[in-house]
Amino acid sequence: MKHYDYLIVGAGLFGSVFAHEMTKAGKSCLVIDKRDHIAGNIYTEEKNGINVHKYGAHIFHTSDRGIWDYVNEFADFNNFVNSPIANYKGEIYNLPFNMNTFSRMWGIKKPSEAKEMIEKQIEELGITDPQNLEEQALSLVGKDVYEKLIKGYTEKQWGRDCKDLPASIIKRLPVRLTYDNNYFNDRFQGIPMGGYTQIVEKLLEGSDLLLSKEYSEFVKEASCKEISFDKVLYTGMIDEYYDYKLGHLEYRTLRFETDYLSEDNFQGVAVVNYTEREIPYTRVIEHKHFEFGKGDGTYITREYPSEWKEGSEPYYPVNNEANNALFSKYEELAAGETNVIFGGRLGQYKYYDMDKVIKAALEMVAKENN
Ligand code: UDP
Repeated sequence: MKHYDYLIVGAGLFGSVFAHEMTKAGKSCLVIDKRDHIAGNIYTEEKNGINVHKYGAHIFHTSDRGIWDYVNEFADFNNFVNSPIANYKGEIYNLPFNMNTFSRMWGIKKPSEAKEMIEKQIEELGITDPQNLEEQALSLVGKDVYEKLIKGYTEKQWGRDCKDLPASIIKRLPVRLTYDNNYFNDRFQGIPMGGYTQIVEKLLEGSDLLLSKEYSEFVKEASCKEISFDKVLYTGMIDEYYDYKLGHLEYRTLRFETDYLSEDNFQGVAVVNYTEREIPYTRVIEHKHFEFGKGDGTYITREYPSEWKEGSEPYYPVNNEANNALFSKYEELAAGETNVIFGGRLGQYKYYDMDKVIKAALEMVAKENN
C-alpha cells in the first residue's frame, strides 16, 4: 500500500511548483501527466544545440522580485529582451506599439506628432468608454495601427470578431510614446539558459512521477495497485474534470509546424507576427534567437490557432463574459469539494503568464499549509 498526501494531476509549472513546496513542507506527492514528458507547455527540447520551445514561445517576465528570485533558484537566466516585429503584407513594424511603429506608419518623428495623430483618430471614432477589444484597441492606437497590426492578428488568434472579445486581452500590450521596442514593461525578463525543462526537473525532485498517465485511467488503476492519496490538485481543464456537466468552456488550441533549415539566420529575430488575416498562422518563432543565435542551422515554428475540440490541447481560455459566467458555476462546484483543488491556466480558467502561475501556486501552498 502506497499512500500520498497529494496526487498532482499535471506536471506543468503550477503542479511542479506546488509539488516542490509541498515536498519541502514534508508532504508526499505523486505527480501524473498524460504526456510522455514533464513541464507541460513550457517544455523545451534541445536539438542541434538549440532549445526548441515545443509548445510555443515562452519568455519569462515579471515585476515581482520574489518570483524572479524564486525561478532563479532553478536556472540561470540570460538577458534576452523580447522585441518582436510585425509583418503586414510585407511591411515591417516594431512591436509593441511605440514610436518606431508610429514613425514607420505615419512618417513622423516626434512623440507629440504621434499623440496628435492618435487623438485625432480617436476623436473621429467618438469612443469614450471602450466596451470590447476593438474599441479598446482603437482608443489606444487609432485606426491605422488597429487595422494593420491588431484586427487580423486578433481575429486569427481568437477566431472571433474583435467586437466580441474582452478589452482586457489587448491591455496586456504596452503602448509607448518612446522609441522602446521591449515588448514587456516588467522589471525582470529572460530565458533560462539551457531551457525550461530543467526547471521543472528540479522542482519535481523528491516527488514520485508517472508519465503517459491520464487521470481517469489512473483513478481506475489506483485502488488495484493499492495507491491512495488524501487530496488531488487538478491542473487540467476544470470542465473536463466535471465531465462538462454544466456545459463546455471554450479554449483556443494551437498547431505548431516546425522546420529545420540549414541556413544560420532565417528571420533575424525570435518572433515575427504575421498580422494580416490572409496568412493562416499568427507568428513564426526562430528558436535560436532566444539564446542569441547559438547552434547549428536553425529551427523555425509556425503557429496556427484554432478552436479547441475534444482531443486537442487547450492553450488559451477564452475569457469572454459567457465563459467567465460558466466558469463561476464550475468554481461553485469546486468550492464544495473537500479533497480536490484546481490550479493553473486550465484549472482556474485564467490567461496567466508564467510568473502569475508561480505566484498562484505559492498562494495555494500557503493556503493548504495554513
Ligand atoms: N496582438 C495583436 N497584434 C500583435 C500582437 C498581439 O493584435 O502583433 C493582440 C492580440 O489580440 C493578442 C493580444 O494582443 O491576442 C495579446 O498578445 P500577447 O503577445 O500577449 O499574446 P500571447 O503571447 O500570450 O499569445
